[in-house]
Amino acid sequence: MEKNIVVLPGDGIGPEVLAEAVKILHAVERRFGCSFALREALIGGAAYEAEGDPLPEETLAACRAADAVLLGAVGGPRWAEAPVDKRPEAGLLRIRKELGLYANLRPAVVFPELASLSCLRPDLVEQGLDLLVVRELSGDVYFGLPAGEERRDGARQAFNNMIYDEREIRRIAIVAFEAAMKRKRRLCSVDKANILAVSRLWREVVREVGADYPGVELSHMYVDNCAMQMVIRPAQFDVLLTANLFGDILSDEAAGVAGSLGLLPSASLSGTAQSGGIGLYEPVHGSAPDITGQDKANPLAAILSTAMMLDMTFGLKDAAVAVEQAVRRTLAEGFRTADIAAGQPGTRLASCREMGDLVAARLV
Ligand code: NAD
Repeated sequence: MEKNIVVLPGDGIGPEVLAEAVKILHAVERRFGCSFALREALIGGAAYEAEGDPLPEETLAACRAADAVLLGAVGGPRWAEAPVDKRPEAGLLRIRKELGLYANLRPAVVFPELASLSCLRPDLVEQGLDLLVVRELSGDVYFGLPAGEERRDGARQAFNNMIYDEREIRRIAIVAFEAAMKRKRRLCSVDKANILAVSRLWREVVREVGADYPGVELSHMYVDNCAMQMVIRPAQFDVLLTANLFGDILSDEAAGVAGSLGLLPSASLSGTAQSGGIGLYEPVHGSAPDITGQDKANPLAAILSTAMMLDMTFGLKDAAVAVEQAVRRTLAEGFRTADIAAGQPGTRLASCREMGDLVAARLV
């Protein structure tokens, strides 16, 4: 079966880190005897300059026809004055909406070799950390209607509507349980059920879905407590399931716990692999205009996003694990890009391209 991947390098360091991710895909092809059909397309500022649109119709059509999309990053000061709907970020928001990506998965991993990058006390992370935040991406207070601002009783009043229907909760819960099945089988659902009606429905539906996954240990936690537990005892978590608003905040907190933007991958899905959903895989970081074109960017977040794609869209678990192990071996041997080298004595500085070569060489 042909594995169709659309590659969207985007702007800034996007093309630099994706070139290394593609290098890794070719190494996977050689080692595992599989083959990927790669097609490159424009998005973001690059697309706006070439086509007058940050998400050209041709790009969207290519993504819709693909199994997976690999994205670099979009944006930069060059397009700060562009009309709002033509800014690079508008292309990103639109592609998520058009592809129906409702599940965002962000692993926060602290490799023991890099524990010093975490902002937490060393004893909390010295064994490493490995948690996954599964965040609902298309509903909640961000999209609920009515929303707006009006004058009432002589004062300005603004409002948003926190709303979920059970189908939205069920489908994201299934993604989270499926992810937990492939990990340590522990799922913590985060809500505010002591206050919010929406959260009470959330909890009820998650429990119902949980009945189909007796092998997964399900727990529930209030969001305020979860924010605290994440920094005092992060190792207790395996998979965290959250609604859009809470997940927005908790996934960034988890990123802070992990330490470096250049290491964090993500996946956005329109369904599970079984249901034939499409996946968009991208590093969490942006286009880093301050280091663009200097061969300094850390490509590991893009490479680890590729590993997620191999596992989640293509079911190539062995290949995904091999890529992760190649990354860890490279780090264990002391190689670092500049962003993760600071304060780490005895490390060997690598450029973006060299880091890609090193990981690829450890895959053969
Ligand atoms: P950023 O993530 O681009 O950069 C923040 C800091 O981290 C910078 O100092 C940068 O050099 C560093 N950094 C980020 N990724 C790195 C990597 N792989 N290797 C080494 N260092 C890295 O965030 P920002 O500066 O707030 O935003 C820059 C642009 O990126 C803006 O236009 C913003 O809108 C856009 N952005 C895009 C995405 C996306 O495409 N998904 C996400 C966030 C920001």
